[in-house]
Amino acid sequence: MRSSSVDFYILETLREEHSHLSSHEVFEQIQKQLPAVNPSTVYRALDRLVKCGKVSVSDMGTGAEVYELAEGEIHHHIVCQGCGKIITLCHEDVDPFFATLERKTGFHIVTNHLVLFGECTDCQKKRVEAGHSAKE
Ligand SMILES: [Zn+2]
Ligand SMILES: [Zn+2]
Repeated sequence: MRSSSVDFYILETLREEHSHLSSHEVFEQIQKQLPAVNPSTVYRALDRLVKCGKVSVSDMGTGAEVYELAEGEIHHHIVCQGCGKIITLCHEDVDPFFATLERKTGFHIVTNHLVLFGECTDCQKKRVEAGHSAKE
């Protein structure tokens, strides 16, 4: 099997799923189309696609790194550590921060999928309420 066809199916899968998939989830999807495919072939192809910038890889706090198609608008995320909720940020929100860092460090930043961690409004509320009821 030519590796280019694996690349093609990976890109198609990530395009259709429109979300973040672990390498194992990508493999499961590819296996549906190419039953004879080897996991290591898929993982190597993923690495290659990340290196050439077609796919982004990030740690979203789920225990496994996740892959996503890196095309169209660049976006970033804030992930809630309490409930796992994921908010998508457009690049304009993050760009001034990158520009500041570039001025300070002289680096040209190429990160195309930044993941920040925090606590969402619901979880903050729950924590405050839990704090109150503990006192009663
Ligand atoms: Zn993303
Ligand atoms: Zn939350």
